[in-house]
Amino acid sequence: MHLLDLRSRPLANLRLSVTDRCNLRCSYCMPEESYQWLPKQDILTFEEIDRLVDAFTSLGVDRVRLTGGEPLLRQNLPVLIGLLAKKTALGDVALTTNGVLLADLAQPLAQAGLRRITVSLDTLRPGTFHALTKRDDHARVLAGIQAAARWLPRDLKLDSVIIKGVNDDELCDLLDFANEYGAEVRFIEYMDVGGATAWSAERVVSLQTILDTLAARFGTPQVVATPGNATAQRFRLPDGRTFGVIASTTQPFCDACDRSRLTADGMWYMCLYARGGLDLRGPLRAGLSTLELAQHIAATWRRRDKRGAMERLGIADRGPMLDRPALAQDPHLEMHTRGG
Ligand code: SAM
Ligand code: SF4
Repeated sequence: MHLLDLRSRPLANLRLSVTDRCNLRCSYCMPEESYQWLPKQDILTFEEIDRLVDAFTSLGVDRVRLTGGEPLLRQNLPVLIGLLAKKTALGDVALTTNGVLLADLAQPLAQAGLRRITVSLDTLRPGTFHALTKRDDHARVLAGIQAAARWLPRDLKLDSVIIKGVNDDELCDLLDFANEYGAEVRFIEYMDVGGATAWSAERVVSLQTILDTLAARFGTPQVVATPGNATAQRFRLPDGRTFGVIASTTQPFCDACDRSRLTADGMWYMCLYARGGLDLRGPLRAGLSTLELAQHIAATWRRRDKRGAMERLGIADRGPMLDRPALAQDPHLEMHTRGG
């Protein structure tokens, strides 16, 4: 039985950020070269993450996805996957990565028990990759996807943030590419989350535009039924191929949102757009039992009312949610800290 918030949304889905560090500098997430990093001593150990996950699963959380920052930068990540994969309360453990370090890690991750992986790939053009990420790692990402297709073929997804004038001419190519690897592509609308300081409404490529573009080339996509809590709307092309669109900007799914986020230093956020969160590291390190931690979490979830993306939709003159000075004051507002 799941724990419900004020809008009857269950506590079911936990995204675990294992580091705030990243080896790319995506323009829509982490455009600066340097940031105020979380202090090393604050980063949760694997044992501490394990304890907190037990508290969450005792309340009904049955899906965990590791993210970051770039999760593959965390030392010995397969050890953590191994700890989580053993938990019978979790359906399975998933991971979202930029793929730069995946060529070497896909096999150890799979052997540790990882079954589901999403690799972010916004472009097939090395030049565009460099312009988007300020790094020359495109070939490494492609090698990572190849390794994932070999070692983690059961549930491989490629996520592409689509930005007008940057990669919106690559929709069909990205779909073809994903298909070659037996993967499903999911196009993500550009979001005005913390970190996206250059966001503007004009650069968002909407779900409708994405569908129109694909229809012009491949024929009209049909809707595929998805569970109510799914973030991606799924579609099938006349040739049978499927793809997803995550329309968080133009069609937010706040009313069905069952996800929350734990940062690498143990702050728990109940919405990607929330200004504040709950510190779980303090109580954990102060010696609270798993039951006491769960009581703390439950009391907070029961009061959850936030619908961040829907609130943003109501803003007439919509620009970036936060500017650099506001983000510098609290690194927990950054997408790369909170975990995408
Ligand atoms: N570093 C890993 C990666 O890039 O896959 C995991 C963390 S990243 C924050 C998780 C996801 O958030 C990525 O798929 C990324 O493209 C997405 N993301 C980051 N900023 C975004 C934005 N402004 N709008 C939409 N998606 C965004
Ligand atoms: Fe890009 Fe992911 Fe790193 Fe953000 S955390 S800069 S989306 S690779």
